[in-house]
Amino acid sequence: MAPRSRERGTAMSAGPRRLPTSVIAALRTSAPRCYRHCDRPIRARVLRTSLPGLWQIYACPGGALSVVSFFELSRRDPTPEVGRALRGMARPSGLVRAHDLRSARRHGPELGPRAERALARVPRGLEVRGTYWRLYPFRDARGVDRRPFACFRHPRRGPVFFIDLAGAERPACPECRRPGTRIRRA
Ligand SMILES: [Zn+2]
Ligand SMILES: [Zn+2]
Repeated sequence: MAPRSRERGTAMSAGPRRLPTSVIAALRTSAPRCYRHCDRPIRARVLRTSLPGLWQIYACPGGALSVVSFFELSRRDPTPEVGRALRGMARPSGLVRAHDLRSARRHGPELGPRAERALARVPRGLEVRGTYWRLYPFRDARGVDRRPFACFRHPRRGPVFFIDLAGAERPACPECRRPGTRIRRA
């Protein structure tokens, strides 16, 4: 009996898949400094969920959230599932609004030669597809400036996304009541 085929178009290729490691490396770009909060470097944290793709949560050491991204190798737009997953992590869930989710496609040439070679070998129709969730600081109905934060003290259930005063250095998480990630002194 022949070994399991890795050729194009096998039944194995039906659903979304993990990204090749070279594509993950290309997507893991270094992030800039935290804007209008603490000016410290933003770090990408990786999150594992039941979705097969790469989640990256960009936040500063104080928990000020910059952007969340998700990418997988897929034939369809993962945005509806990404929105559902994010709503499960947000307090309140209504924080994740459809118009703040942006679907994206990334192509081989922009990801560098190694990723491009790896993508040339994946089954036909599979693409690097993903979603960005970016919620900018905003002024609420009472005229108070607010911004999104993330608490990473919940390794089992994933981060908690919440809103606090834009100027708060380490606001308390609505779930654990503790301030966000500790700010490391430089
Ligand atoms: Zn910050
Ligand atoms: Zn918490």
